[in-house]
Amino acid sequence: MNLFQNTEIAFQHKTNSELKKARLLFKVLSLPAIAKFGNYLAKLALNLKLPVTWIIKPTIFNHFCGGETIDECLKVTEKLGKYNVKAILDYSVESSEKETERLAVRNETLRTIRSAATNSNVPFAVFKPTAFASTDLLTKASREDKLSVSEQLSLNSFRKHIHTLCKEGFQNNVPVLIDAEETFYQSIIDDIARDMMVLFNKKKAIVYNTLQMYRHDREEFLSQCLKDAIKENYFPGIKLVRGAYMERERLRAKKMGYPSPIHPDKESTDKAYNNAISFCIENINKISLFNGSHNEESCLHMIKLMEKHSIRRNDDRAYHSQLYGMSDHISFNLAREGYNVAKYLPYGPVKNTLPYLIRRAEENTSIAGQSGRELGLVETEIRRRKQLSKQF
Ligand SMILES: Cc1cc2nc3c(=O)[nH]c(=O)nc-3n(C[C@H](O)[C@H](O)[C@H](O)COP(=O)(O)OP(=O)(O)OC[C@H]3O[C@@H](n4cnc5c(N)ncnc54)[C@H](O)[C@@H]3O)c2cc1C
Repeated sequence: MNLFQNTEIAFQHKTNSELKKARLLFKVLSLPAIAKFGNYLAKLALNLKLPVTWIIKPTIFNHFCGGETIDECLKVTEKLGKYNVKAILDYSVESSEKETERLAVRNETLRTIRSAATNSNVPFAVFKPTAFASTDLLTKASREDKLSVSEQLSLNSFRKHIHTLCKEGFQNNVPVLIDAEETFYQSIIDDIARDMMVLFNKKKAIVYNTLQMYRHDREEFLSQCLKDAIKENYFPGIKLVRGAYMERERLRAKKMGYPSPIHPDKESTDKAYNNAISFCIENINKISLFNGSHNEESCLHMIKLMEKHSIRRNDDRAYHSQLYGMSDHISFNLAREGYNVAKYLPYGPVKNTLPYLIRRAEENTSIAGQSGRELGLVETEIRRRKQLSKQF
């Protein structure tokens, strides 16, 4: 049996009724009508500001989110912690236009860092850079366009927010992950992330930048990161993901007539991803690796390499991560074997987490196919428990 097939370990934290609820959720998500209209209706409800909390909270929200506040999430982190599965509190309020709202997101993220500092079940903090500046501004800055005075001020404030968060992480010894979104405004984020690493990663990785390996330029970028880190004497934190914005990236490139930044097919993304894991593990004395993936093969690739290079399973420089509510068969089985695992645990007011939930629903519809795997695993475990109860 492969490591990830053990559904008893995978779902040990779920009661029978929680499992049945999960089965119902994935069944509903896999209905063709939901795949076709569900996301449209959810987006409509969001745009029209309809009161949909009563249906969303006890169902999809509870499955994929930790709660509405840090305190609510603490119950979940404690529960996961019993199985050696850690969590990362991800305040899921997406890009805002007003500086006061940005300040509120920054202050909430500071609270997650301080809370992580006193909670051994929470080893990282995380934020999305687009919470602190408009994507238009970041796009201009990434193209190195000339900025107006007010744009320059906004960019300074963006840089300051990121600096404040990374410094807080440094002072509290809590590593901070910087998420990645779309390619056309990533370059300014890469530059700032690198500056933060120079400042705060002198002794170990505190700041982690995200590399989306569906981009065909990221292997080269990773190799340059290491060269820069050796030259400037810092320890890079690298969060690897495949990347979540493929369709949008391809569509934009086609519409605007430039070459797509994305690998031509899944195989080349997979190859680049596993090459990047190999590169990080082979350079573990310098690089700290955070492997954000639900891909079994990539996770197995990483643990095999760790064994080959005699890296301790709980070495702080090697982490696996999956999203809360997904791929428990990977998280819980790896944690049981003594590997570092931390699940992204999104939280926030229900209406603000809707864009995140819509992305999860899209990923889990019958079209995208992920729900088939989740549903299959949940059903296997329900069957296993039923058989077991018959034996007594
Ligand atoms: C902890 C965690 C943190 C994350 N943080 C981020 C983040 O900051 N930014 C972000 O963008 N995403 C993030 N993601 C999402 C991630 O990028 C992937 O979309 C998701 O995890 C699915 O990829 P996978 O590695 O799990 O495996 P798989 O399911 O094996 O791979 C699916 C991925 O492969 C790629 N792919 C699929 N088809 C093709 C094709 N035809 N051509 C080229 N490539 C293809 C796409 O990237 C797709 O998402 C995160 C995921 C996790 C688990």
